[in-house]
Amino acid sequence: MATPGGAQGYLQIQDVVKDFGGGAVAVNHVSIDIAQGEIFALLGSSGCGKTTLLRMLAGFETPSAGRIVLDGQDLAGLPPYERPINMMFQSYALFPHLSVWDNIAFGLRRDGLPRAEVAERVEQMLKLVQLDKYARRKPHQLSGGQQQRVALARSLAKRPRLLLLDEPLGALDKKLREATQIELVNIIEQVGVTCVMVTHDQEEAMTMASRIAVMSEGRFLQVGAPADIYETPATRFVADFIGNVNLMDGVLRSDQPDHVQIDCADCSHHVGHGITGTEGMAVTVAIRPEKIRLGRAMPDTGFGPHNRVQGTVRELSYFGSFTVYHLALASGAVLKVSQGNVDRHPDDVLSWGDTAWASWAPNAQVVLTQ
Ligand code: ATP
Repeated sequence: MATPGGAQGYLQIQDVVKDFGGGAVAVNHVSIDIAQGEIFALLGSSGCGKTTLLRMLAGFETPSAGRIVLDGQDLAGLPPYERPINMMFQSYALFPHLSVWDNIAFGLRRDGLPRAEVAERVEQMLKLVQLDKYARRKPHQLSGGQQQRVALARSLAKRPRLLLLDEPLGALDKKLREATQIELVNIIEQVGVTCVMVTHDQEEAMTMASRIAVMSEGRFLQVGAPADIYETPATRFVADFIGNVNLMDGVLRSDQPDHVQIDCADCSHHVGHGITGTEGMAVTVAIRPEKIRLGRAMPDTGFGPHNRVQGTVRELSYFGSFTVYHLALASGAVLKVSQGNVDRHPDDVLSWGDTAWASWAPNAQVVLTQ
């Protein structure tokens, strides 16, 4: 994973709007400062506006309002080819009749770079993406992952100040995608180029990006490092969108700093930290499945009857290193629990139909008010 570095605000997106008319506001007052060398992901489901924002950075769309500033330069009015920016598309768009070498050289030649300089840069890029042995091959003689690396080499050969990636690994199958994610980050970090990527795949964003903006309906709902977004989602939407989560609706019963109590249909919660809210307020408690312990015996949580609930195992999915259980609760709600399969006490190996207790620590819970 990349770490943010360099000065803040290398790329500044300032209150940018894209209104296509007819009620379609694709990007709705978005602002963000992106640091030099950062890999920043725009993450959201289809239609949330992420591609439109990327296309405004590239210059393919003009903002209806707001400013985009790169390294101190306002990009307004600059056509795509005059921007120090390169965009890599999901389809790679490699020229099928050209060799790997010529594909990488294409943009440099078009820009009129001297032959020696073209050759030097192409060789450098081939080494970077470890395809020096494949220079004479045509794209169809390469694997999907290799083609993707050629596309990256071609994008980086012009030494852009900003690299835009549109669903960069969307065309690869799952296993190759996972391997390529890490390769891609290593290459981008070696070059040190600032990067904005668009993806609807949260695992891809979590693996590759130093920060993620979760988008919905043209707005940034939350911006943060992957772990921050996963551990402390700001809203119900974000908690649900990133990873698996149990969301339990409840009512705030006590808001004392040392004892926040929330009552839900099946259980009551003791939350260790104070929250902003008043008694009687409707809230949602979010708990990740891996933060719940499951066992046959009633656990002593240290908080009386709070933070535990009994249920019946209704589904088990074995994933090798862990198993996911669906625990049916009295109200009919289902609690998802993920348990590691290493060193599990034999008493706590559960089967379909078993009665079991789920319990969790106060800090395993995130209390959401929106
Ligand atoms: P996807 O993952 O499906 O590509 P996205 O999050 O990238 O989705 P955008 O392509 O940015 O979403 O679209 C955002 C919204 O703007 C959508 O409602 C879309 O229909 C609308 N939109 C995009 N381009 C245009 C256009 N040229 N004219 C009118 N509306 C558009």
